[in-house]
Amino acid sequence: MSQEFSSPIPTLTRSARGLLIEQVALADVAARFGTPVYVYSRAALTDAFDAYRRALGERRALVCCAVKANSNLGVLSVFAQLGAGFDIVSGGELARVLAAGGRADSVVFSGVGKSRAEMHQALEARIRCFNVESATELERLNEVAAQMDRTAPVALRVNPDVDPKTHPYISTGLRGNKFGVAFVDAKTLYRRAAALPHLRVCGIACHIGSQLLDSAPMVEAARRVLGLIDQLAGEGIHLEHVDLGGGLGIRYRDESPPTVDAYLAPLLKLFEGRPEELCFEPGRSLTGNAGLLLTRVEYLKRGEEKNFAIVDAAMNDLLRPSLYDGWHAAVEVAARDVPKCTVDVVGPICESGDFLARNRDLAVEEGDLLALLSAGAYGMSMSSNYNSRPRAAEVLVDGQAVHLVRARETMESLYALECALPSSQP
Ligand SMILES: *Cc1c(COP(=O)(O)O)cnc(C)c1O
Repeated sequence: MSQEFSSPIPTLTRSARGLLIEQVALADVAARFGTPVYVYSRAALTDAFDAYRRALGERRALVCCAVKANSNLGVLSVFAQLGAGFDIVSGGELARVLAAGGRADSVVFSGVGKSRAEMHQALEARIRCFNVESATELERLNEVAAQMDRTAPVALRVNPDVDPKTHPYISTGLRGNKFGVAFVDAKTLYRRAAALPHLRVCGIACHIGSQLLDSAPMVEAARRVLGLIDQLAGEGIHLEHVDLGGGLGIRYRDESPPTVDAYLAPLLKLFEGRPEELCFEPGRSLTGNAGLLLTRVEYLKRGEEKNFAIVDAAMNDLLRPSLYDGWHAAVEVAARDVPKCTVDVVGPICESGDFLARNRDLAVEEGDLLALLSAGAYGMSMSSNYNSRPRAAEVLVDGQAVHLVRARETMESLYALECALPSSQP
């Protein structure tokens, strides 16, 4: 890779004090909170959200942050204070949104497997809309709402069968996919939903995939959705909002995703003069390049075929490289006057798949800090305790201020919910 430092994180710069995020030196964050640690920039989060707001202009629209991309309360509270809505996929995420100060009436609930308990919880909180993904889910939601003497606002998540040309694991709008209802079944299901007494049909939703680098598949999906809306209107079923999901990609390496403006422009044109409220569910494009994972080199190990920088972060902290070959820039925090060496950046976990970055030319010595960039989305939220590793701390930087928004897990917390059996009597 080219060693020219070109930061995908807009508020990350190089200075005499090494890498800075906003005005805070990453070396100071590591000294104060230890490593591995996720570091987010409030200004970068805010700018990413504002890009959507600016692009949408006067259009009646709601931007719902996809909570699964980054569910830290500190991060969610930044968006809540900006007036964002939230896209959730579980009762746990709803609880997080409310704890972070988010408004229930701006929450949309996606996901193929909503339990009765989750439906109950979301109805109790009076969320804005359930994005329903199957015929039986419609029936179940109607039942739960009936028991509570409530009416559930629903949109059907349709599967427009367009190929987003992204990684198969993050492509969600194709026919063979578990998500959404088939386009050909949508009308029947809308008729059924309209007939169920405890449902109120209010919209339509789709989400075709993630890390999209071109708006064309989205525009094609929206075109199909519009056709369906007009057919339904002909039957007296009027939809008030259109939720076009998330999916806009970011630059990890050398990708050139469209700006939010360029991405949304053809969609806004398509909906020009139409009364429906638009809704978006961006995740990666809001948080991905607002955060990094800071880690320390424990060992440099020369192998027969490869050299390794063994760091204190691992696949349990950042799964994307192992899970779908995600690429994250690995950058030296302090510029070092040592020869560069080609290394695989790997963690201490007992799996060959435990790598964070491969074949990188790095000038590092043992004890040095490395920053894995573009880790603000699907980083901490996908982390685990595999190998009984306490999860990383999370820090949110705001100008010169540093907020610890999640303390490092303790060893005790790892098994706080477990118990050993008493020794059996002889
Ligand atoms: C994951 C997901 C999103 C967010 O996707 P990004 O690619 O991170 O923008 C939005 N909506 C739904 C339904 C999702 O599953």
